Amino acid sequence: MNEFEIQMRTIRNLMSYAVPENRLAEAEDLLDIYRHDRIALDLLQEFYSFLPDAHNDWVREILLVRRRRGMFLLAAMTETTGYLYLVSGEGVEFQGLLADGPWDRDLLDFFGYSGREQFMEEGSSLDGYQVYEPMDSDQDICPSCHVATGELHELGCPVEVCPWCGGQFIYCSCRYDQLGIDVMESEEDLLRLEQLLNAQGRIPYSPEQRPTFLDDGPGVIID
Ligand SMILES: [Zn+2]
Ligand SMILES: [Zn+2]
Repeated sequence: MNEFEIQMRTIRNLMSYAVPENRLAEAEDLLDIYRHDRIALDLLQEFYSFLPDAHNDWVREILLVRRRRGMFLLAAMTETTGYLYLVSGEGVEFQGLLADGPWDRDLLDFFGYSGREQFMEEGSSLDGYQVYEPMDSDQDICPSCHVATGELHELGCPVEVCPWCGGQFIYCSCRYDQLGIDVMESEEDLLRLEQLLNAQGRIPYSPEQRPTFLDDGPGVIID
């Protein structure tokens, strides 16, 4: 089993306790849509592990409220209400009811809201939020670190292209050549590397960087 299948099994198991029996088929259909999407699977696992209102419930739809630099503000919609979640490769944080908007000032800033009032206005004035598209179908999202087209990859993302040699930055040897060292040892080396990278000009994500497959080993050519 791959990691997605393992996570799907975990979520199905949680669902068997949380979802009303006559809704199980629909809840599983939604899960299936996101079978290759780590962000949505993490959200669903969090929802079914810690049901927000602590009673049986199920997610019928996931909406994209906003996304920026690999961070997603998503709404898990149930039959009666919507719950907000902040999701990234780093984890999932519950943010309360969609109808209330997020309370975290930094989070509102990060996503470009002047405040909760603006959030709530937008939520009620728009036709509604879009459905969150599963990652494997969205070309404008880096399949590994989840930044959007034009944004810089998270440092360490295997899809990032090296600005010196054009290879895969986490595997080529340019870092050592640039730093003039044989081994990366300290936080300081990493900071210095980041400065050199920025000075050279990092290459932001674009859809042509999508690998035909993501390999963990060296020697994968991305073009
Ligand atoms: Zn990336
Ligand atoms: Zn290189």
